[in-house]
Amino acid sequence: MTGETYLAADEVTKKYGDVTAVSAVSLDVPSDAVTGFIGPNGSGKTTLLRLLLGVERLTSGTISYSGPDAERQLGYLPQRPTFRPGFSVRETAAFYADLVDDDPDRLLERVGLEAVADRPVSGLSGGMTRLLGIAQALAGDPPIVMLDEPASGLDPAMSRLIFDIVESIADAGRAVVLCSHELPLVEKTADRLAVLESGRLVRTGSVEELREQTGGPLHETFTALLEQDRAAIAAPEGTQS
Ligand code: ADP
Repeated sequence: MTGETYLAADEVTKKYGDVTAVSAVSLDVPSDAVTGFIGPNGSGKTTLLRLLLGVERLTSGTISYSGPDAERQLGYLPQRPTFRPGFSVRETAAFYADLVDDDPDRLLERVGLEAVADRPVSGLSGGMTRLLGIAQALAGDPPIVMLDEPASGLDPAMSRLIFDIVESIADAGRAVVLCSHELPLVEKTADRLAVLESGRLVRTGSVEELREQTGGPLHETFTALLEQDRAAIAAPEGTQS
């Protein structure tokens, strides 16, 4: 990876009362890669994504932004995108496109929703709603696109379609940050992975580096990887065999 760093987190912590959702995480988001956040439920993936987006306040640490168009650089697909009922797909796309001088038809084409442009958003399937959410995230061509569980709850064919779109977003030269449970698809799509466990960043590296460390496909060794990390965290420095 040779691109510049668009987003950097330095010792970022987020507490909700007694719960530490994200604990002293430092990581860089490079401009020319798909970064995947993986980890079990409750490990802090969504919170870290929202901290990077700036929609959640930090308890401590810093986040720095660089890159083109600093004002409008972040596109975001939330975990459960919702749209105002009563509007059609095209009207919804137009609402988001207008905010940033984009073309709604271009956005719908980008995610393959042209054929359902006249349907009400309330009649869309879960997968199509997600696609409209991705179209919304792409409005204005932001250089960084953050996607929270873009394929959760969808059937395998729709998940693959969504991950193909994610790949094409990255191929168009954007930084993509992705939280997902779909480990085989993340492994195929991401260039870099950040592995979270109980709010801590326990590993980070390219997919190849993590495969070398774990000795096989990550979706097979993921459980072992986390067990290993738990042991490393539990063991005091220098006592690991
Ligand atoms: P993940 O995305 O990996 O499932 P989350 O970031 O959603 O993890 O959650 C990390 C931890 O922070 C969990 O223990 C969760 O219950 C807690 N948490 C997340 N958001 C809030 C909130 N708004 N208020 C209180 N606790 C929260």
